[in-house]
Amino acid sequence: MKPAGEDRAGRWARLNERREWDLVVVGGGATGLGVALDAAARGFSVALVESHDFAQGTSSRATKLVHGGVRYLAQGNVHLVREALHERAAMLANAPHVAQPLPFVMPGYHWWERGFYGTGLKLYDALAGSRGLGATEWLGSAGVRTLLPGVQPRGLWGGVKYWDGQFDDARYALLLARTAAARGAVVLNHCAATELLRRDGRVHGVVVRDAETGAETTLSARCVVNAAGVWVDMLRDLDRDAGAPPRSPLVAPSQGVHLVVDRRFLPGTHALLVPKTTDGRVLFAVPWLGKTILGTTDTPRADLAREPRPFPAEVDFILREAGRYLQQAPRREDVRSVWVGLRPLVRHDGDAGDTKALSREHTVLVGGSGLVTVTGGKWTTYRAMAEDVLERCMAHGLLPRRPAGATTRLQLVGAAPGRSLALPPGEHLYGSEAALLRTLPGADRWLWRDGDGGLSEAMVRFAARHEAARSIEDVLARRSRLLFLDAAEAARLAPAVATILADELERELDPAPFEALAASYQRLP
Ligand SMILES: Cc1cc2nc3c(=O)[nH]c(=O)nc-3n(C[C@H](O)[C@H](O)[C@H](O)COP(=O)(O)OP(=O)(O)OC[C@H]3O[C@@H](n4cnc5c(N)ncnc54)[C@H](O)[C@@H]3O)c2cc1C
Repeated sequence: MKPAGEDRAGRWARLNERREWDLVVVGGGATGLGVALDAAARGFSVALVESHDFAQGTSSRATKLVHGGVRYLAQGNVHLVREALHERAAMLANAPHVAQPLPFVMPGYHWWERGFYGTGLKLYDALAGSRGLGATEWLGSAGVRTLLPGVQPRGLWGGVKYWDGQFDDARYALLLARTAAARGAVVLNHCAATELLRRDGRVHGVVVRDAETGAETTLSARCVVNAAGVWVDMLRDLDRDAGAPPRSPLVAPSQGVHLVVDRRFLPGTHALLVPKTTDGRVLFAVPWLGKTILGTTDTPRADLAREPRPFPAEVDFILREAGRYLQQAPRREDVRSVWVGLRPLVRHDGDAGDTKALSREHTVLVGGSGLVTVTGGKWTTYRAMAEDVLERCMAHGLLPRRPAGATTRLQLVGAAPGRSLALPPGEHLYGSEAALLRTLPGADRWLWRDGDGGLSEAMVRFAARHEAARSIEDVLARRSRLLFLDAAEAARLAPAVATILADELERELDPAPFEALAASYQRLP
């Protein structure tokens, strides 16, 4: 995938051209794409395969925060917070059209909260140092009500304002893929790794299958990186001798639910953070692309569904707690979309019972076979995780030494000053590529309109030509985020998107599977 567009057949052909890759990466979420970009930026030859779509797994289902993790500070994990604050700055600077500073307000309903949380946040500022986004401020109750119109005024004492960042996760992932491609990597979505190539107990490549054509090919590599998110154990399990017992799992998945409601519940551009709900959990209400995201939960789950659905208690928790802090309590019928992601938490003790006891840091494991597995961490730290992976590959002699730091200031495709992500989606999300977008047919034909933005015919064409979109879902879930913002509206657009995509991809597309998916994003348990 080149910034200027390269067709899928061309990428498949390039995948087959090379006899040996320096690095083959399995998994096209934040982690795998980060590794592919870092390696390509250091001049290594890289191929990445993603079984579904870029970011279709956990990486499109985040709370959309680029953050140091205030709550990890409360747990005393200063190292984790300092690293994330460093990465927060890099993430915002390298793609300002899709990642920006976001002011937060913590409202206080008890006399001690303002001072208690404010002091912790001053430490947060100090850890960010020169990379801080703005100073923490104590607010009176009038100040909170001004910055957070919609907040519950009853019993409000005051609050604290502090800064973090927010982003469009799926579009950020696409930019990582496209920037890696611009650096020579071959990155292919809808192409799964189905087998590991092993010789004398060493992994030396993978077999991959194109989901569209069914064609298979083998990719030989000096180093294979397993970045399959919560699915890493499936690939690890292929890395064992016939008859050997299954490997004990590395990941304990924990699901997080988000509900999206209209912006009227939290007008304005500040996010609301409740650090401790009645039962001790964290709750966010975040303005995002013209709507408000409410979330999230942290519920252990044994299966690894591609489209996990919420449990009734999770929906009840979010609505109940949001209703305590917002003047208008959102009701079930106000929910425009519900989406769920699986956190790849790393287990150290073989017991997945309590996910809060599991590690929120990432883990890199180099198996006896040389298979490198990376999982855990968070979106914000994807770049540091990538550097860590490459360091481990080099330390194990899988790759020759090349210095780190190639991506610290590497601007992603289209990087240009952006506008607030609280506003509805539009051409501003294309950064410097907005000019290219406007040259495509249908730049002024809007399929869906919100404010001065929405989804235009040209955006669908751009998705097919330049962003490797292959299906209605690829367009409506991850190039445009309409499925996440308003699932009913996304379903309504499916036939129109199918027609435009059919023209671009020269094949028929059936809207029915996407309509069924969108129906499940509208349904609350
Ligand atoms: C509810 C929730 C909220 C979160 N909020 C935030 C937040 O606000 N900020 C933040 O920094 N972090 C957040 N996180 C964490 C962050 O989203 C994850 O850490 C990150 O997205 C994980 O990325 P990943 O690439 O490891 O996994 P994934 O995104 O799941 O990527 C793994 C990919 O591997 C692919 N794959 C699997 N098997 C194969 C195979 N055999 N062949 C090819 N491909 C394969 C999958 O299809 C998938 O796309 C949140 C997580 C959750 C669950």
